[in-house]
Amino acid sequence: MPVKINLEKLNTEDLSLCGELSANELQLDLGGTHDLIRSAENLEYEINASKADDSIIIHGKLNIEFSCECARCIRPFTYAMDLPNWATVLPFSGADGIRVIGEYVDLTPSIREDILLGLPRHPLCDESCQGLASQRKVAQEEDKKRSDAWDKLDEWKQP
Ligand SMILES: [Zn+2]
Repeated sequence: MPVKINLEKLNTEDLSLCGELSANELQLDLGGTHDLIRSAENLEYEINASKADDSIIIHGKLNIEFSCECARCIRPFTYAMDLPNWATVLPFSGADGIRVIGEYVDLTPSIREDILLGLPRHPLCDESCQGLASQRKVAQEEDKKRSDAWDKLDEWKQP
């Protein structure tokens, strides 16, 4: 079920929502810059919504796990994203204004956006991961080649 807020209800009271959103419904469209993130588990959410004059204020918890490959050692691991203080403000009008369908507002796009923003570009199984020894060597050699090339360029630039 998409994460939806009933606006009519919200007019009379604050709303609490909790449940799970499948990766399918979340439609993260992983790949591209996130190609080391292979798949996502269900998102768990616990959200409160309240109405302000010109917006809806949302805050709550989001939890989701991803199957990743480490950017250094290519080992598969699970990356857990915990957003214990997730919050967003949805204005009723303007360029970022909410889209009301029937009497509902779908929170899924806001959740999707913030999760994508929070995903690491270079997921690491551990901050101190040293990578594969052989890979490290190749990387060092490439660095050296590159700096040699720069040295040559510098020489060439000298009058
Ligand atoms: Zn690693």
